[in-house]
This record gives sequence, structure tokens and C-alpha cells, in this order.
Amino acid sequence: MSGKLQAIRGMNDILPDATPLWQWVERSIASILDAYGYREIRLPIVEQTELFARSIGEVTDIVEKEMYTFPDRNGDSLTLRPEGTAGCVRAAEQHGLLFRQAQRLWYAGPMFRHERPQKGRYRQFHQVGVEAFGMQGPDIDAEVILMSARFWRALGLEGHVRLELNSLGSSEARTRYREELVAWLRAREERLDADSRRRLDSNPLRILDSKDPGTREVLDEAPSLLDCLDAESAAHFSELQAILADSGLEFTLNPRLVRGLDYYGRTVFEWVTDDLGAQGTVCAGGRYDGLVEHLGGKATPAVGFALGLERLLLLLEVTGAARNAQLPETDVYLVAAGEGASSAKIRLAERLRSEVAGIRVECNCEGTGFRSQMKKADRSGARYALILGEDEVRNGEVGVKDLREAGSQVTVPDAEIAGWMARHLGSDARG
Ligand code: ATP
Ligand code: MG
Repeated sequence: MSGKLQAIRGMNDILPDATPLWQWVERSIASILDAYGYREIRLPIVEQTELFARSIGEVTDIVEKEMYTFPDRNGDSLTLRPEGTAGCVRAAEQHGLLFRQAQRLWYAGPMFRHERPQKGRYRQFHQVGVEAFGMQGPDIDAEVILMSARFWRALGLEGHVRLELNSLGSSEARTRYREELVAWLRAREERLDADSRRRLDSNPLRILDSKDPGTREVLDEAPSLLDCLDAESAAHFSELQAILADSGLEFTLNPRLVRGLDYYGRTVFEWVTDDLGAQGTVCAGGRYDGLVEHLGGKATPAVGFALGLERLLLLLEVTGAARNAQLPETDVYLVAAGEGASSAKIRLAERLRSEVAGIRVECNCEGTGFRSQMKKADRSGARYALILGEDEVRNGEVGVKDLREAGSQVTVPDAEIAGWMARHLGSDARG
């Protein structure tokens, strides 16, 4: 190999300047999940290829062309997970979590799809996923949707995403509709784009999702899935809408909304934004009552969603909502020089961390002179510089300089410095 080593295209490093925002988003979401009683499950990144082929469906974009699949050394076919639901169902089944009980689960982590990299679309990306098992009523659909709405509020994104809702009905209703749609589209086949024509045979419902302008024009007149719903699904759907309306959540019905994966039925929803161009879906989910049984378990109702963290972060940037983030700041920057100062510095830093709850202390260990260390202190963003020179060490004192108020410096006895810091940083510094 020649030249510099580079990350794989579409797989991003998240650098230290960026991670505080990621951590804030992840913490905000995790605390909301916790408030709703969802419990975290941690799953392998690699699974048997068959799991994805069987659950996502052979004629989906993911399985047809996006999976990272490779032979294990013993010849098994393995795949980097392209999404989390399949692995979550596999794990829940394998460990008996679905046996006569409801489960509210969530997970977060990297997913892998071999797509053309562009803004908001990567080959390694991150999702937070939520799955609720064993509950069939529209109340749980409403709960997961309202929970996702709370994410946006917590992150300051309210008004930048809107909820689109649809019902795919029962699989019988979908089969009926599929036939009706295919017949209708066949009569207008010459106006469809090539991809959609191909899908007439393989996965006709996905045509509803087409971005091609000509195809969309044809679809404007096409029969609507909502007119074909079976009675039970229609009742489920209208009750869901009533609960959401009673809860004050706005939504629009989008009869063209179909999910890319095979296992959805009844409720489907997406949170979309106009601020990210073509990659406008930030969060997508719905009901997949058939999947657990399809993977060999007992029939188990299930509803969930996955949200794309990269798109969420992009949205925070473009809307300016990233400014709302509570990012951690250094409280204290310790500078020291002279006889005995090196050891005193380390001991003082250790003591502060032990005695002042939550304090963030950064020690200069670069071995440079005072002036250069003070410049680093200024640039660190810290509130205070603590100064240990030969005099301070000899007298058992610490110099304290307020870096946000020019000129103010005091000397505090070493024995009182922890108490002084606790008082002056106050509770706001603890976040
Ligand atoms: P799209 O239509 O944009 O390809 P999808 O239907 O394939 O999305 P899902 O499988 O539903 O997406 O995944 C849920 C969410 O994960 C998406 O709404 C999006 O926010 C995010 N996501 C999906 N694929 C990618 C990707 N390649 N890069 C970044 N985020 C992604
Ligand atoms: Mg996709």
C-alpha cells in the first residue's frame, strides 16, 4: 500500500471536538428512554447473514445490495448488522425475554450499509433503536411516538421535524392492495422509471416510495393503501390517531409512506425534516407483529423505531439547536513550575478530584515554563487557573486566578483550597 492510511470511505471518525455534542445527544435520549421504562440491550455487531436475509427480506435494498457480508474462517456467512431490529428479536427470543411478558428495549450503536456516501448517508452510521414487544394496542404505538417527540423537544428541534403517519394494514389487506396497485401501474408502465418497473415484480409497494418525478406524477392518481385497510387495522389506526390528537401531537397522514423492510404491518411513521435535503428522514419505525414468529418464535406483537444519529446531529448543526447543548467545561487548569511543584501539582489535582464532587481538573504536564503554561490555561476554557510555584509550595498555599475576570488573583491556604473550590464552582458547575 502506498500513501497515507485513510479511513474507509463512508466511515467517519468522530473527533474529540465533536464527541461532546454526541454525548449530550446520547445522554438526553438515554434519560428519556429511562423515564419511559425502556431498558438497554447490547447486541453483537456481527450476526449470521441468514438472520438479516430472513427478517429484512430478500428483495429489499438492504439485502439486495447494501450488506457487508463475508465468510468467517470456518466458512459461515456473517454480516455486519445493517440495522438493529433483527438482532434484538434474535437475542430476545434466544434468552426467553418474550415468554409471556412485555418488554420495552432500546439499543444504540453503529450500523453498516454499503451505500453511496453523501451528506446524511454513510457506510457506517449510528442508530438509537427502540423495540416494544408483547403489546398489541394502539396505546403502545402512541407511547413510542410520543417518546420520540420528546427527544426532539429535549434537543431543541421542535418545529424542525414533522410526523408522518400511515397504516399498512394486515398482510391480507396488503396483498389485496398490492394486486390492485400492480394492475393499476401496469396499465401505465411506460411512464414509470426503470427501478420502479423492475419493482412491479419484486417489491411493488416500494414504488410508492420512488423519488422519480415521472413516477410520482403517476402515483398521485394511484389507489390509496388507506382505502384497502381491513376493519381491525382501520380501527387500530383511528384509535392511534385519536390518542395522538388527545396528547396534542400534530401529524400528517401520508398514504405513500411504506417502510423499506418487509416486516412492517399496520402503523408506520417517519419523522422528517426539510433542512437536510434528500436525506430528510431522521427517525422511522412502526409495527412489525409478524417478525418474531417469522424468525421462529411465538407470534408476538411488536412496535419500534430507529433514529439516525448522524442526521440528528446534522440537524442540530443546521438549525443552530446545537447551541442548546450543555457541553462539559473544564473547571480548573493546574499550572506548576519549580522545585517540588511537579509532585505537589499531581497531589493537589488528585485531592480536588476526591474532595470536590464532579470537579473537572486538567493538569499541565508539558514541562514548559510558567508563561506558556498560563497561555494554555487561558485557552483551555477553564474557569480557574491554580498556580503552584516554588513560593506557594514552600508556604503551603495555592494561587487562584479567575480566568474570566481579568486581574483577579488570590492566594488560598492549601488546606482550604478544596472547600474554596466547592463554594466558588457552586452547583451550576456540577451540571
Ligand atoms: P433512507 O430511505 O434514507 O435510505 P432507510 O429507510 O434505509 O432510510 P431505516 O432503515 O429506516 O432507513 O433506518 C432508520 C434511520 O437510520 C433513517 O431514518 C436514517 O435516519 C438512518 N439511516 C439509514 N441509513 C443511513 C445511512 N446510510 N447513513 C446515515 N443514516 C442512515
Ligand atoms: Mg436506505
